[in-house]
Amino acid sequence: MSNESLANLLKEERRFAPPADLAAHANVTAEAYEQAKADRLGFWAEQARRLTWAEEPTETLDWSNPPFAKWFKDGTLNVAYNCVDRHVEAGHGDRVAIHFEGEPGDSRSITYAQLKDEVSKAANALLELGVRKGDRVAVYMPMIPETAVAMLACARIGATHSVVFGGFSADALATRIQDADARVVITADGGWRRGKPSALKPAVDEAVGKAGSVEHVLVVRRTGQEVAWTEGRDLWWHELVERQPAEHTPEAFEAEHPLFILYTSGTTGKPKGILHTSGGYLTQTSYTHWAVFDLKPETDVYWCTADVGWVTGHSYIVYGPLANGATQVMYEGTPDTPHQGRFWEIVQKYGVTILYTAPTAIRTFMKWGDDIPAKYDLSSLRVLGSVGEPINPEAWVWYRKHIGADRTPVVDTWWQTETGSIMISPLPGVTEAKPGSAQRPLPGISATVVDDEANEVPNGGGGYLVLTEPWPSMLRTIWGDDQRFIDTYWSRFEGRYFAGDGAKKDEDGDIWLLGRVDDVMLVSGHNISTTEVESALVSHPSVAEAAVVGAADETTGQAIVAFVILRGTAAETEELAAELRNHVGATLGPIAKPKRILPVAELPKTRSGKIMRRLLRDVAENRQLGDVTTLTDSAVMDLIQAKLPATP
Ligand code: ATP
Ligand code: MG
Repeated sequence: MSNESLANLLKEERRFAPPADLAAHANVTAEAYEQAKADRLGFWAEQARRLTWAEEPTETLDWSNPPFAKWFKDGTLNVAYNCVDRHVEAGHGDRVAIHFEGEPGDSRSITYAQLKDEVSKAANALLELGVRKGDRVAVYMPMIPETAVAMLACARIGATHSVVFGGFSADALATRIQDADARVVITADGGWRRGKPSALKPAVDEAVGKAGSVEHVLVVRRTGQEVAWTEGRDLWWHELVERQPAEHTPEAFEAEHPLFILYTSGTTGKPKGILHTSGGYLTQTSYTHWAVFDLKPETDVYWCTADVGWVTGHSYIVYGPLANGATQVMYEGTPDTPHQGRFWEIVQKYGVTILYTAPTAIRTFMKWGDDIPAKYDLSSLRVLGSVGEPINPEAWVWYRKHIGADRTPVVDTWWQTETGSIMISPLPGVTEAKPGSAQRPLPGISATVVDDEANEVPNGGGGYLVLTEPWPSMLRTIWGDDQRFIDTYWSRFEGRYFAGDGAKKDEDGDIWLLGRVDDVMLVSGHNISTTEVESALVSHPSVAEAAVVGAADETTGQAIVAFVILRGTAAETEELAAELRNHVGATLGPIAKPKRILPVAELPKTRSGKIMRRLLRDVAENRQLGDVTTLTDSAVMDLIQAKLPATP
């Protein structure tokens, strides 16, 4: 954004008050905002007491060398002990930690007591392989309980894990193994995907050949498919882990001990290896999971549909929920295997009360039709969450109405791999919700919107989202590259964390996320948000999904090009294109009317389900495609390119 702040175009007037019953028993009330405002560090010191420390920290934040933060630095703890053992010691050993649902329909439930045994055995196995505190372990797994066990086993012995999404190629895995210099890879023969076994081991064999640093590969048998075997290097999990003793005494590590490295999803460019540490990270994931979802560990059944390979899986499948002693569902497969009602069948089967998913999934369910969720009993649900992209107001309202029976609050949670935990979100028992807005920084979090000159914008203004104070689960650096850490996040605005997202403040001061700063369009001198134009398109009954980009244009600087996926029955006609253009004009104003509307069958998405607008911009401007390594399916780009006539 160069010469003008983001235009503020979309008006969304619908409001949804918290249900009275939920508000009356909510974990967090409005008072928390006041308390944190009066004493931010005191607030976080109090939240740190949610954890069990071997040595209690006396110092909350050391910010003497910004942007390198140290939280709770003289405290020591064991993260795995906090996620597992202490619940058993507190008498909750029989509580189910994970209800696992395999894609083929196999299922098993693992209690906290069983999880403690499994994690201890896996920790002993890693020790036998020579893994020590500070060593890096790569984890390349399907969505099965052993994945969480592997991560916790690393945490238990102080090894730093680097989980690589199981859908990534051998090359992507090799560069991540190399970047972290991992000694061990934990993987599986494969996982179940779309009704078939999908192999993982061959990619590991190839990646390990390239990377060089790996001494051992530990392999879980999941699908039973045939695998190549390197004697001496490869070991079966069921042989090595199962013969270990189920006793392991966890050692306490410093609060700033590195817990994991995780690469960003690559929506805006080459992925960055984000480093997270222990005490602050676990404090904030635990607090936010309890506050934002109003978690009641004795009665709730929580389900986060993300893959463990993303930060959402790290913070809201493994660390946050387990630190809180929650009971959760873990599902291996895709939402349409063997049928499009699979998610709702799972909600019904386990009586899921809290569901956390992504806008891309919600838009897909809308496209499949209201009649599918209507066939299932979803009455157990009481809180719905969204994460990953701005949620279009139409999708938000659909989610609440068709999944939440027009009764459950929807929490739109803004955060990033870098922030480690949720930062901006409604609270289900407190906030009057606005569809499409993440609304307010959580208690203890300081965020605002600034213009080019770093001035805070007034209510009604738009610009860049920044975080103005350090937070406990903040990234500590980019692995091996402190300078890139400083340049990427701390150089655009002096002393503030630059998130890379455009945002606006409405008249009440609530925050609306407007997409990546890199994606913002400049049309006739106005900065226009991709999100707002997409939301306007999605609010038309013929449009299921939309992605818009600004393409170079001689007269207007940039012209808006919209790629749309039409709903089932809508025909691809000139009349419909004109109608959609007018619909956007009527919703947002004439300046936001797309110059071209291109119906497509699919949109390019990252493996985490986010639209990759930079590739669409490359297409719209006839350029060679940029980094496609984290793209789900590169054939999508060929189809889109074929669709596009030569630039007019
Ligand atoms: P890269 O940084 O490599 O381009 P990425 O930013 O997609 O990858 P993540 O850290 O997984 O990787 O995604 C964080 C981003 O997702 C945020 O910066 C924001 O753009 C978007 N996002 C996440 N949740 C929300 C939300 N609730 N509303 C709006 N945007 C969101
Ligand atoms: Mg990012």
